[in-house]
Amino acid sequence: MRKPLIVGNWKMYKTITEAVAYVDRIKAQLPPADQVEVELAVPTLFLQSLVERTRGTNLKIAAENCFYQDEGAFTGETSPVALRELGIKHVILGHSERRRLFYESDAVVNQKVHAALQAGICPLLCVDETMKRQVQGDRVQWVVSQVLTGLAGVTAAQLPRVTLAYEPSWAIGAGKAAATPSEANEGCYLIRQTLARLYGESAAARVRILYGGSVNQTNLPALLAQSDIDGVLIGRASLDPAVFLQMVAVA
Ligand code: 13P
Repeated sequence: MRKPLIVGNWKMYKTITEAVAYVDRIKAQLPPADQVEVELAVPTLFLQSLVERTRGTNLKIAAENCFYQDEGAFTGETSPVALRELGIKHVILGHSERRRLFYESDAVVNQKVHAALQAGICPLLCVDETMKRQVQGDRVQWVVSQVLTGLAGVTAAQLPRVTLAYEPSWAIGAGKAAATPSEANEGCYLIRQTLARLYGESAAARVRILYGGSVNQTNLPALLAQSDIDGVLIGRASLDPAVFLQMVAVA
């Protein structure tokens, strides 16, 4: 019922030359969109040219962030309305790196979710979980509260346009081990249960929830086999086009 979604998050890697070469290499080799949806979230600088190069293919280009206002004196920020005009349909919001390094609070993330929806862009809302929370045993409350605040004011009519991702920061980045498939599923299940409380079981059952954090070719099949994991958000392993193609083929 929920079509798998594979998203590569390039973060702040690659130059435009590298980005174009990568996209040209993979865009014609992806499975059809009715089997699996494939997206690359790329730096703002590359959005326009990659959207143009991927038109008509099953590779969608997403933004890694946007601001919560459509326009104004906000030096260095990116307007959701301007993204929409480029043809961008998805934006990652609330990534743990944005929360940790750029001090984005749940309230700011919530404002961004609303601004994106208003502009006609679907948010991919990331829910973080730190190791400290896991060790202290208050992870449930922490994950639930991020869903509640991140989606505050989002209506049942808007919910189908939202995707969530369970991305524990203890599993993200070089030197970290991914969550086990059952830990990852538990995080995604917790998010779905919270959605069910807010919007009802059947609405929650239709929302796609991804797992992110050290996903690679080896652990991908077991992650995708879990009941509440509908796709993955891939950092490092998405940087190599050959590896990314192989991972998409597994989905
Ligand atoms: P890694 O796959 O490099 O751990 O990054 C995950 C991530 O942050 C995806 O958004």
